[in-house]
Amino acid sequence: MASTTPLKSNREKLINGIEGLYKSDWNSDLVIKGGSGKEWKVHTIIVCLQSKVFKTKCKNEWQVSDNNGTYTPKPGAFTDSLLSLKKDSQQKVIELTDEPDLLIDQLVRFLYLAKYDAKFCKTTESPWGPMQFHLKMFIAADKYDIQDLAGYAKQEFLSKLERVDSPADRRDFIHAVYELYQASPASETELRAKAVEVGTSNSYVLLDDGLKEEDGKENDLTFHRLLREIPEFGDQVVVALSAAFAEKKKNSVGTATYRCEGCRSQFVITNGRCDVKIHCPECRKAARKLW
Ligand SMILES: [Zn+2]
Repeated sequence: MASTTPLKSNREKLINGIEGLYKSDWNSDLVIKGGSGKEWKVHTIIVCLQSKVFKTKCKNEWQVSDNNGTYTPKPGAFTDSLLSLKKDSQQKVIELTDEPDLLIDQLVRFLYLAKYDAKFCKTTESPWGPMQFHLKMFIAADKYDIQDLAGYAKQEFLSKLERVDSPADRRDFIHAVYELYQASPASETELRAKAVEVGTSNSYVLLDDGLKEEDGKENDLTFHRLLREIPEFGDQVVVALSAAFAEKKKNSVGTATYRCEGCRSQFVITNGRCDVKIHCPECRKAARKLW
């Protein structure tokens, strides 16, 4: 008899099943090993379906090529499931020695749950703020060719980039921009353009923080140091600031004298803008520029 369970519910069950694998090492057949020695027991099918780099790594490790370049499984690899149950059987391992544990934690989480958790960034133990962390995830996505993760991390990064309200946010921003230019693919022009935009519109407060911190914290990365050390970023901020200044100057009329069209009284406005209508301070009627 055909089941009456709705299709959506079936899909949910399937997704729940995959999510369940995240919390269990049942039938896991692959180990991801971090630089600290920590291990994550994972499933080849989950990992290799999403990452072309891991898929290739698995190929090299478990398969041998013949003269024609055709890959065939190594004897005793995944063809013989009984072997993997033996304690002394060879464990399949992907070593990510360059990656911090915190990052691998979230990378594995994403592979199973299609999202990761950045809550730890708010704790004092976190080595990174949210912007730095999302950027690190984006860089990892590019490195291991996990397209969905790249899209997810990029959106998360952009959504945090605007918030430079607190000193902690601004510190996070400065370090994230540094890493953005050092480690992320240069083709990512959207992220860089946004960083320049945020850096320019907040340059006053970002520079001010640096001046306050200058004594005693010589080695800390300030916004001023960032502008000097990443000329590609610094140049663009300076150009954008100059353009904004020129625009302001163009629209400014300096000191001008006006006469009210109503009560005829004269008054002087300093640093007024020619694109803004001037009103009489006495009667609020429109005023006309005299000189
Ligand atoms: Zn008036």
